[in-house]
Amino acid sequence: MTPRPSTPPRYSQYWNEYLETMPREVLDQHHLRRIQALLRYAYDRSPMYRKLYDRAGVRPEDVRSLRDFVEKVPCVDKADLLAAQAVNPPYGELLADFQDDMTHQFYMTSGSTGVPLQVPYNHFEMMKSAEHVAIMCWAVGVRPGDSMYLAFNFGIFVAMWMAYHAAFRMGVHVVSGGGVDTKTRIKQIKDFKPTLLFATPTYALHLAEVAREQGEDLSSSSVKNIFVSGEPGGSIPSTRTAIENAWGAKVYEYYGASETGALGQGCTVQGRMHTFEQDLYSLVLDDRERPVADGQVGEHVATSYIMLTQPVIKYKTHDLVEVHYGGCECGRSWKYLQGGVLGRTDNMITIKGVNVFPAAVEALLGEIRGTSEHFEMHVWREKGLDELLVRVEASLDLDRSCYGETEASAQELLRHRARVRIPVEVLHPGALPRYELKARRFFDHRKTGTRPPRSQKGVSL
Ligand SMILES: [Zn+2]
Repeated sequence: MTPRPSTPPRYSQYWNEYLETMPREVLDQHHLRRIQALLRYAYDRSPMYRKLYDRAGVRPEDVRSLRDFVEKVPCVDKADLLAAQAVNPPYGELLADFQDDMTHQFYMTSGSTGVPLQVPYNHFEMMKSAEHVAIMCWAVGVRPGDSMYLAFNFGIFVAMWMAYHAAFRMGVHVVSGGGVDTKTRIKQIKDFKPTLLFATPTYALHLAEVAREQGEDLSSSSVKNIFVSGEPGGSIPSTRTAIENAWGAKVYEYYGASETGALGQGCTVQGRMHTFEQDLYSLVLDDRERPVADGQVGEHVATSYIMLTQPVIKYKTHDLVEVHYGGCECGRSWKYLQGGVLGRTDNMITIKGVNVFPAAVEALLGEIRGTSEHFEMHVWREKGLDELLVRVEASLDLDRSCYGETEASAQELLRHRARVRIPVEVLHPGALPRYELKARRFFDHRKTGTRPPRSQKGVSL
């Protein structure tokens, strides 16, 4: 018989209380030691990092404090990693270590913004990532004997594999939803009664919608906790509430990227995420690459201590987050990001001098009566200035004669709360395309210099 993995006692609210509640001063000492070792490692082994640091005139031994790290060490972003891989594909000058005596798994990013980045994970990296998922699951009450439903195909989406390995680490059963259609998945959920679900926010809603069409209600299903990742939603109140109501379960966000590993976990205080400080140093920087003050919004710049095959050091995620440096009600000392990922630096819109985050607009849309969760945002440039248009489908019960009134009240709410005038078009239910896995809701026409296409206003497709 295979022995059950060791886990904390069931009553413990922490997976690792020592690490999760470490005082800030001790955490900072931990970060400095890990960063110094990591810089030395990357400088000696990865041609990309060695060239970058030589050009910047910084050597690993020059970093004697966290302030040195912030001020002296240059940032990298995905374009740098892709360029380093292109030198000698598949891994090129980015690679620091590839140990033939260790099992590797090979992933790549989805390539939604261009060429995919190749991301090999060795066994150590995968097991550490699985531990991050275990920390997150344990925090919200998942215990041995629970069962996990993975509503994904077993493909290149690395977060799914982290969850899969985390289940073994925690003594949790796995029900695979790979390679079957949505209707079969709904049947599996009814038959196997999983207690937790991993899905994208769009797919969690899609499953519930298809079940409803079949005359079934998932709000009384066995699922108690839902972890969503792959796109924003888990920390946006309106989207989270829609998923929670459809499933009768709590929703938490799981934040990460293939190249960085896990970055953040949903807290028991919903709507915020902790960064995994045991293995990650998170900086939140302004546009001049200086750390923002507590409670301010900036770009999340991540340094991972576990990604050793292809190191990730001061990696610009382009995610906008509101950082709090500690003091969470859940007892964890780790930094938290209020509201999760608020938007992307490359998606930021400036309308008449006011910065507007698409995720903030999405959150406000959820408060407008008479509209559904199906919407699109279009941004384009008019005489050098950003313009934003919101299209949202009416809810099924909204009479067509009320569309104009709903548009006016939506515009008023956005003007009042986002402090800018944003035109809103209310469309007939079914007018916008449907997506199964990840919804496409943000259309940036600034890159092509075009205007948004005409809408199917009031037309049922
Ligand atoms: Zn917390």
